[in-house]
Amino acid sequence: MSKFKRYLITSALPYANGPLHIGHLAGVYVPSDIYTRYLRMKGEDVISICGSDEHGVPITLKARNEGVTPQEIVDRYHAINKKAFEDFGIAFDIYSRTSNKIHYETASEFFLKLYNKGEFIEKTSEQYYDEEAGCFLADRYIMGTCPHCGNENAYGDQCEKCGTSLSPSDLINPHSTISGSKPVLKETLHWYLPLDKYEPWLKKWILEDHKEWKANVYGQCKSWLDQGLQPRAVSRDLEWGVPVPVKNAEGKVLYVWFDAPIGYISATRELTPDWEKYWKDKDTRMIHFIGKDNIVFHCIIFPAMLNAEGTFILPDNVPANEFLNLESDKISTSRNWAVWLHEYLSDFPGKQDVLRYSLCASAPETKDNDFTWKEFQARNNNELVAILGNFVNRTLVLTNNYYAGSVPARAKLDENDETVLKEIGTLKSNVEANLDLFRFREALKEAINLARLGNKYLADAEPWKVIKTDPERVKTIMNIALQITANLTIVLEPFLPFSMEKLRGWLNLENKVWQEAGNKDLLLPGHTIGKPGLLFEKIEDEEISRQIDKLMATKKLNDLSSVKTVPTKDAVSFDDFSKIDIRTATVLEAEKVPKTTKLLKLKIDTGLDIRTIVSGIAEYFDPQSLIGKQISIVANLEPRKIKGIESKGMILMAEDKDGKLVLVSPADKVSNGSMIK
Ligand SMILES: [Zn+2]
Repeated sequence: MSKFKRYLITSALPYANGPLHIGHLAGVYVPSDIYTRYLRMKGEDVISICGSDEHGVPITLKARNEGVTPQEIVDRYHAINKKAFEDFGIAFDIYSRTSNKIHYETASEFFLKLYNKGEFIEKTSEQYYDEEAGCFLADRYIMGTCPHCGNENAYGDQCEKCGTSLSPSDLINPHSTISGSKPVLKETLHWYLPLDKYEPWLKKWILEDHKEWKANVYGQCKSWLDQGLQPRAVSRDLEWGVPVPVKNAEGKVLYVWFDAPIGYISATRELTPDWEKYWKDKDTRMIHFIGKDNIVFHCIIFPAMLNAEGTFILPDNVPANEFLNLESDKISTSRNWAVWLHEYLSDFPGKQDVLRYSLCASAPETKDNDFTWKEFQARNNNELVAILGNFVNRTLVLTNNYYAGSVPARAKLDENDETVLKEIGTLKSNVEANLDLFRFREALKEAINLARLGNKYLADAEPWKVIKTDPERVKTIMNIALQITANLTIVLEPFLPFSMEKLRGWLNLENKVWQEAGNKDLLLPGHTIGKPGLLFEKIEDEEISRQIDKLMATKKLNDLSSVKTVPTKDAVSFDDFSKIDIRTATVLEAEKVPKTTKLLKLKIDTGLDIRTIVSGIAEYFDPQSLIGKQISIVANLEPRKIKGIESKGMILMAEDKDGKLVLVSPADKVSNGSMIK
């Protein structure tokens, strides 16, 4: 039996400066939702807490770029993300936000408690200050040249070109992104949490007492602890955030890493007056679901904060996942390399469970993993449709056909029947054992194995043949198939809540508790089931191609925007420029030069004469489309023979980054022969 009386499940607070994508779901929210649903079905006292993380510099930067307030940014993404979670059935008990009043109060109280206990170090340091804008500059507000790779657009905390993490003082020629001015160093006072003081305690608590944590989590903690911990500032010079609640702290807010995890506490306070029971009673089991980028905050820094405060419990487990990639490339918001949840739902309406299934089945539990549309399609067509959907459909359709939907009774069981009935209980135990260890992929596999078992049972027993020779025997077969189906509604409920609700509807079955899984009499003889619909539909190749094309278009756009503009050529004198005679002209005739792919022969009216120009633009223009177009030409280029045709002059073209050619034409029609100067 569990030594805990209740559960507190937290899921990483998503940052409210962009929409959610499949990486978020796979890494954090699908596993936390499966686990929470499982505990609820078991009748445990469990609350699931989440909300938007709404402070920090990236939000203020985005607001500045868009010319709106930070509050407008977080209002926008809080609403979008809250809806996305609801749409995908991620059933938090509360989805709160750190801009709420109750959070400001909770975070201030937390800070003051540590402050009054003397847990902080006060330290003055020199930081960059923008004299024109009159404010200290967060690392992200400073840009300059990276000392490692020479990138001129490196940030004060990181060079995104070579990936080196930097501090603002490393930058060559630093400048403020707010005013563009050169920042000066100025003294500023901040409060620091002395993590080094907690190092021995953390070493024992994690490395000795929590050896059961997932290897990726334990390993990352060990590496942090082996490197040695340093005091870490808990405050920042910034306008947006929870103000530091002490004197001499004007213009200072709590640093977002200190502020955000306290958001779990304030959300619980908002949810229930009984919140202390979940946060302070040793009988509560707290579990943090997060992605690997958050391990240090949830395993080292937040526990150190809770320990310093003194009245809170600590997480019992932190089952962090690694990252999900998309089609072999890192998911990236800025490069738009992602499958956005709201776009998925408009492309695949009603198919939330297919994505939940696919993301759980290939979740990055122990190492980074890749999401591909082909695999998504295969999971749907070969597993959800061919195994689960097929078994359920056969069972329900045959029961309707043979018995008008009334569940038949079992008679004498043969050896295979006995084995299959026993296997239901075994599979339930397997699902449970894996869920208890946060092995969600394996748990899902075992749950689907129950549908596999059913499929094989029907294929071996062949009720559609036996009905002609031994109808009594078929009653037993269908009863067993129906018990398997009813059991599926329990063991798959945490994974596929939308589909199992449908299935329960067709079976006329109440919501069951977890402990009833394995029961061989969930559907009693005489119980009437309804007519089934389709649980899952095949996803066609065209739909998958459309998704892949969408990604390829993004990739092409990204490649183009990364192509550097060619630097300017050496300076020329005005006299030299004046020697070139550029004029407007109109195309009269255009045709391909025979036996060439690139050349067009154009007859043009220059206002001075009618002449022929041969131009290498055939790949980009249909000859007919050029006729009547006004163009610009170099009129005094020395004539030369191309493929035996004398070409007099040159047509001006702009060449785009991908090599595409575009005509350079006057914006309004002018007389032919007008000089361009
Ligand atoms: Zn660099």
